[in-house]
Amino acid sequence: MRVLLIEDNEQLSSLTTRGLTRHGFAVDCARNLGVAREFLALGSFDAIILDLGLPDGDGIDWLQGAPDDRPPVLVLSARNTVDERVLGLDSGADDYLVKPAEVEEIAARLRALIRRPGSRQTALLLRGNIQLNTDTRDVRVAGRSMLFGRKEVDLLEVLMRRNGVVARETIESAVYGLSDPVTPNALDALASRLRRRLADAGEENVLHTVRGVGYYLEERSPS
Ligand code: CA
Repeated sequence: MRVLLIEDNEQLSSLTTRGLTRHGFAVDCARNLGVAREFLALGSFDAIILDLGLPDGDGIDWLQGAPDDRPPVLVLSARNTVDERVLGLDSGADDYLVKPAEVEEIAARLRALIRRPGSRQTALLLRGNIQLNTDTRDVRVAGRSMLFGRKEVDLLEVLMRRNGVVARETIESAVYGLSDPVTPNALDALASRLRRRLADAGEENVLHTVRGVGYYLEERSPS
């Protein structure tokens, strides 16, 4: 799950990023609204965390002018009066959390936002014998819970959300943050690891490579 964190306080930004990464999110950081707009034009995000007092404008103004198809927004601000919180929500925020907040709660609020109806995410994905709970990141193959690495689950999620071949660029943008350094072989190595794990779990040859194009999961009936 990919999150854009709009926060100008460097210390808070890196602390939040580290915490959310531990909870399975890929986080990109923008220090101001200008950079945030560039990020949003470049990539697709599942949610946005928005600070309000930013060097080049107020988050409330940005919210009021943001396009309807933007990802859900969690405001994370030190402005804590009832009026300020009501203003944030009435301006279009999907949720509002007062600083300082524990990273566990930020992560839980993000998961709740992402699985809301109307959001493009659903919590339980099924494909043949493979089942993925996108909230808990639990993977089951033929009913058995399997231990997969974080990026392996991210890759599996991208492939399970789409039918047919998924382009390398789409996968890379969903699995790695824009600021993560991605070597050309990283995705191939990741796909090999996932393929091996699925085979170990009894799903042999279910993940296919279309060389130079992308990857797909074979359609299989549950057995
Ligand atoms: Ca600020």
